[in-house]
Amino acid sequence: MQSPVHNAFINQNDRPRRRVLTQDEQFLIRESRLKDLDNIRQMSFYSLIPLLILSFAGGYTLSHIILKPLEKLSREIKRKEVENLNQEIEFPDKGDEISELLQSFNNMNKKLHKAFEGQKQFVENASHEIKHPLSVIKANLDTIQDHKGISKKQQNELIKNASKQIKTMDCLTEDLLLLSHINAKIGIQLKKTNILKLLQNVKTNIEDKAKKADMHINLKNKTEKENIIYANQNLLERAFINILENSIKYSKGDTINIIIDQKNEDFEIKISDNGKGINKKYAKNIFDRFYRIDRGRSREQGGSGLGLAITKEIIELHNGVIKLDTAYKKGTRFVMSFEKEKKT
Ligand code: ADP
Repeated sequence: MQSPVHNAFINQNDRPRRRVLTQDEQFLIRESRLKDLDNIRQMSFYSLIPLLILSFAGGYTLSHIILKPLEKLSREIKRKEVENLNQEIEFPDKGDEISELLQSFNNMNKKLHKAFEGQKQFVENASHEIKHPLSVIKANLDTIQDHKGISKKQQNELIKNASKQIKTMDCLTEDLLLLSHINAKIGIQLKKTNILKLLQNVKTNIEDKAKKADMHINLKNKTEKENIIYANQNLLERAFINILENSIKYSKGDTINIIIDQKNEDFEIKISDNGKGINKKYAKNIFDRFYRIDRGRSREQGGSGLGLAITKEIIELHNGVIKLDTAYKKGTRFVMSFEKEKKT
């Protein structure tokens, strides 16, 4: 057998020559090729028709399947009002993207409905809270005006009471404004804060009030390291003061303990009193806006029912968690856990 190298050197002239075709033969070949081409053209034309029909039918059905739920969605969006936000769009869950889109739309509406209901409830409660002191003020002023014969002492009493109601309204509007600021996060600057120093400050600020109520405040740091968090100092102080003021106002105990304790890598703050405590059945609602256990008494004390709601929102603004310790039996204890040096 000859090698490919050897073949490569074979002279071109040594190759067998091709026979030259006659004109008739060439004509026949051309004719046959043209016929073949014609056949192919016809075949592809006829096979294209069912293909076209199939693709039109497929496209129509597919677009119908896809567009029908989208049309429904568009109709529902046009129909949506604040009042019917909670009505879900019903659809068969096929587990595809369209079903996912409809489910997301339903979920979004649920959230919007909840938010609107919350706002409505909030406005109703706030109006009610403002209405109460307003009607007391009006009644007192009417009495002074209509009963000319009432004594100076009675008059003073009525004016004193009206001014107390004005103070309550002032506190309420302040609390409402604070809540809206926290929610909108307006002008809230955070800076590195030593939690022990902040609590020492809180203790100093409230000590006089506690003494007047014959209460003693202890502050203890059980952790070894410094506990630093990014905080808005005014707000965080306000959160702790709300809890301490509640102990002074409602607990009827004589001691308040503030403890900074280690919790894994992070830390928690426990504020407890040795008073009457809060029944665990209230634990679920105690942080709700305008929630009070003893409505009359709380109003009497000037409480707006927003104290603990504000505290919770401030703690959460600092990535913390607050809980009423329902296992605590010696009084009331709130536990707040924070993550060290976490930026919000
Ligand atoms: P307010 O602003 O009216 O004081 P809060 O939201 O601060 O309302 O507190 C809600 C309710 O929880 C109070 O009305 C009070 O009945 C109860 N409460 C809070 N702290 C204590 C406590 N340390 N001891 C007993 N009751 C408390």
